[in-house]
Amino acid sequence: MSGRLDGQVAIVTGGGRGIGEAISGRLARDGAKVVLAQRTDAEGERTAAAIRAAGGEALVIKTDVTVEDSVAAMVDQVLAAYGRVDILCNNAGTGVLEDITEITMENYDLVMDVNVRGVVLGMKYAARPMVKAGSGNIINIASFNAFVGLRHFAAYCASKAAVVNLSRQVALDLGRHGIRVNSVAPGYIANPMAQGYFDAHADPAALKAEALKSIPLGRLGTNDEVAGVVSFLASDDAAFVTGTTIVVDGGTLCHGPYAD
Ligand code: NDP
Repeated sequence: MSGRLDGQVAIVTGGGRGIGEAISGRLARDGAKVVLAQRTDAEGERTAAAIRAAGGEALVIKTDVTVEDSVAAMVDQVLAAYGRVDILCNNAGTGVLEDITEITMENYDLVMDVNVRGVVLGMKYAARPMVKAGSGNIINIASFNAFVGLRHFAAYCASKAAVVNLSRQVALDLGRHGIRVNSVAPGYIANPMAQGYFDAHADPAALKAEALKSIPLGRLGTNDEVAGVVSFLASDDAAFVTGTTIVVDGGTLCHGPYAD
């Protein structure tokens, strides 16, 4: 495989399934050696096997992004294997549907730990070799829920807003080292996570229809459509782009999620 990311080394957290699987595959097709960092070995290995079968290079490193030692060890293993880190995509994320009056602090901590602490830890350790090299690219996966609320999703919305401004702030600190930091904010993507959101509703079909009505392009997005934007941000085509967020939502934010 060869392309605009030839010879680069990319870490994708949560790279084994869903949007992360598409990002891993896309970065590999663009020429990067891809490290898939998630807790579930089997999903990482399945995706890595597909990348290798298509002629790419992939390494699976079992990682819990909420545990500092685990993230530090993962980056050490990447450096031992490849000697460099060029791209970090903090994609791992989770959400729990709860109204604010019922929210449990366990679930709040879980969401904030994966979605915010995990992003902080990934950047802390992957940016160190990038600073030494004087170059690098960080792409954090946020959500359109960074900008608007989604019913019953308080902790998730708060966590994704944090990802957007954290990315801006880190872009300030790391710019002088030649490192770009951006975030990508997907809207409704047709995959099990979004389906889980619909299915948790009393009438999943009605909620999905309502969501579709809110999307000017008239359909849910795909994992690959998010991956393409990550690839663009990682590439030299985005060489002067840092500290920004690219929203990939089919236009939902033009009017808010539930407007007719
Ligand atoms: P999935 O639930 O399918 O995938 C989430 C990934 O994160 C899995 O690979 C999971 O692997 C990993 N992960 C979760 N917790 C941890 C952890 N503690 N340590 C390491 N990895 C972890 O979701 P999607 O693919 O749909 O979502 C990917 C990203 O996109 C998330 O950040 C999500 O918030 C965001 N997003 C998704 C949207 C959608 O419509 N689907 C819309 C907007 C944003 P494992 O469990 O094996 O660790």
